[in-house]
This record gives sequence, C-alpha cells and structure tokens, in this order.
Amino acid sequence: MIQVTKTYLPNKDKYKAYVDRIFESGQLTNAGSLVQELELRLAEHLGVKHLICVASGSLALQVAYKALGLEGEVITSPFSFAATTSTLLWEGLTPKFCDINPQTFNLAPELIESHITDKTSAIVPVHVFGNPCDVEQIQAIADKHKLKVIYDAAHAFGVTYKDRSVLQHGDISTLSFHSTKIFHTIEGGAIITSSNEVAAKVRLMINFGISGPNKTEGLGINAKMNEFEAAMGLCVLDDIAKISQNRSNHVAEYTEVIGDKLTFQKTNAFSSKLFSYMPVLFDTEAELLQVKQALEVEGIFARRYFYPSLDVVYSKGVLCPVSNAISQRVLCFPLMADLPKIVLEILGKLLQKV
Ligand SMILES: *Cc1c(COP(=O)(O)O)cnc(C)c1O
Repeated sequence: MIQVTKTYLPNKDKYKAYVDRIFESGQLTNAGSLVQELELRLAEHLGVKHLICVASGSLALQVAYKALGLEGEVITSPFSFAATTSTLLWEGLTPKFCDINPQTFNLAPELIESHITDKTSAIVPVHVFGNPCDVEQIQAIADKHKLKVIYDAAHAFGVTYKDRSVLQHGDISTLSFHSTKIFHTIEGGAIITSSNEVAAKVRLMINFGISGPNKTEGLGINAKMNEFEAAMGLCVLDDIAKISQNRSNHVAEYTEVIGDKLTFQKTNAFSSKLFSYMPVLFDTEAELLQVKQALEVEGIFARRYFYPSLDVVYSKGVLCPVSNAISQRVLCFPLMADLPKIVLEILGKLLQKV
C-alpha cells in the first residue's frame, strides 16, 4: 500500500545517540539543549531571524494569535487544512472566509478588502502546497487597514520568494513539523518572526508566561517541544538536502508523466521549486474520482487535499464558490523521498485512458 506520503525515518543509530545524551543529561523538556540546538540550526538553514519551536503547528497558530493580540474577525482562506480555521475558532475568533484564486489556490488579494469591517484584526493566509502568496499585496492591504498578518506556512518549509525565505513575511509565519510534513519532529511546529519583541513574548507564552523562579508575566500555555522531538528534528535536518532533492526529482517525473493531461497549480514566478505536495487539477470531479479509484485498486492512495472547502465545514454553507469548485477537482498524488517507480508507471497508463 502506498499512501499520499510517508514519514521520513533517519538513521536509527544516530537517533539513539541523541537519546543517550538525553538520558545522560536527565533533561527531557523545558528548552533543553537539543531544542536550543535545533532552533539555531533551523533559523540558519531557513534564513530567518527568530524561530521558536513548539509542540505542534496548531499551537504555533494559536500562540501567534495570542501574541499579536487578535480579536474579533480574521480573514482567512477556506482552501486549507482544518487547523487554519479550527485554531481561530478555538481562540474565540471569527473566521471570515475570503475566496481563492482558481490558479494559485491561494487567497485572492483583490477580494480581501471587501471582507474588512471595523471588527477585523488580522489576515491569516496560507501558502497552499508551499506556493507563496502575493505577499507584497497582502502586506499593503494590512498596512492600509492596520491589520496583523499571520502566514500559515505549514507547507512552505524551505521555500524562497525573491531569493529570501518566504517565512520572513507577515508579523508571524508558522510551520508544522508533524510527521507527515517534509521536515518533521514527530509532532511539532515553529513560530517565526523578525520582531525581537514578538519573539520574547512568544517565548514567555509557550511556557505559561513564567519568566523566572516565582515570576509569571501575563497569560501563557504549555506549547513546548520536548527533547525527543528535537532529536528527531536534528536527525531529519541532516538529511533535508537529500530529501528535498529526491522529492524535487519525483515532482519532475510526475510533471513529465502527466504532461498536458491535467492542470498544475500555477506557482509564484518568484518562488523556488516546490516539493511538499503533488497537487493536480482535474476538469471534473467525476474524472478525479475515476482516477482516484483506479489508483486505489492498485493499492495507491491519493488524497483529496483539501476537501470539502472549510467554509462548508465550519459555516455549513458555500460562502466561497471558487474554493468549493477547486476543492472538488484537486487531488494530491503520493509524494515522498523514496517514491516507488510503480506509482508513475501506473499513473501513466491510467492517464492514457482519460
Ligand atoms: C499540518 C497543517 C497544520 C497543522 O499542523 P499540526 O502540526 O498537525 O498541528 C496547519 N495548517 C496546515 C495548512 C497544515 O497542513
């Protein structure tokens, strides 16, 4: 059986050596030395100023909303994983769904202003499948209306925009290091910001607001990453160049096999190559289901990321027609560092019949 992705497992002995270090130190969590090492290495690898590791991508978003003091309404994309919206609702914020561009699958910047009211405090766009949003236009709208911008960048690990990390954009960008993601720490995530003040606040917030013995500054939560997760991250990070290269090669192979039979996501002209997911757009949902089912007969499980559109999930109605139409026709083919050749062979044969 071949699933849509496969967790990358690093060298076991290397991981064990880190576990030995954890047992020797006796420190399993609370900003231990491995979490500190991982934060420094990730910030350097990605080219960002402050990177704070947390327990999940969802907690990264929740802490980001709190750290920036969001309230009222937040404009966001309905074409995303549930967490982008569920975290807003969990924090008592009201998501306002703005439709997407049918080619890039990202929030359509020209539609954002029509959703702004006197209750709006922020915009939470998603770099869908790692494809950078129109970051300059979104920032201009945010500046004009004094709104915060938090990018859900869960898919954008290692993605650059105009030769700099796309994670440098917005007041905060968040990552997920869940084991299904290209870089993972079993469970985990990170908060990225260029602001010293925001970074300091986030560090307090992820540990109950505790600033020293007998001292608590403001409200916090437990969102800390532990040492075993950081150890996994350090091992996976050693191999990230190889993982990315392999996945890039598989994307190129898919592109060749698919040719002009299906439509690809329109990627930002200023971005680096994407290799987090392998999304394609079918002409109709019926064709999508036909190919998906034919693959399943062969033990290959493509996934309908993202279906249904989140406006339908969380508001019980279609608010964004483009997102709904796209979500019915997008399918993600399996993508992993060591994609079995058989997937491309079978897909090639199936597409000849479409
Ligand atoms: C994976 C993902 C998340 C959630 O991350 P977790 O680490 O699983 O909490 C949030 N947003 C998007 C777009 C994701 O794909």
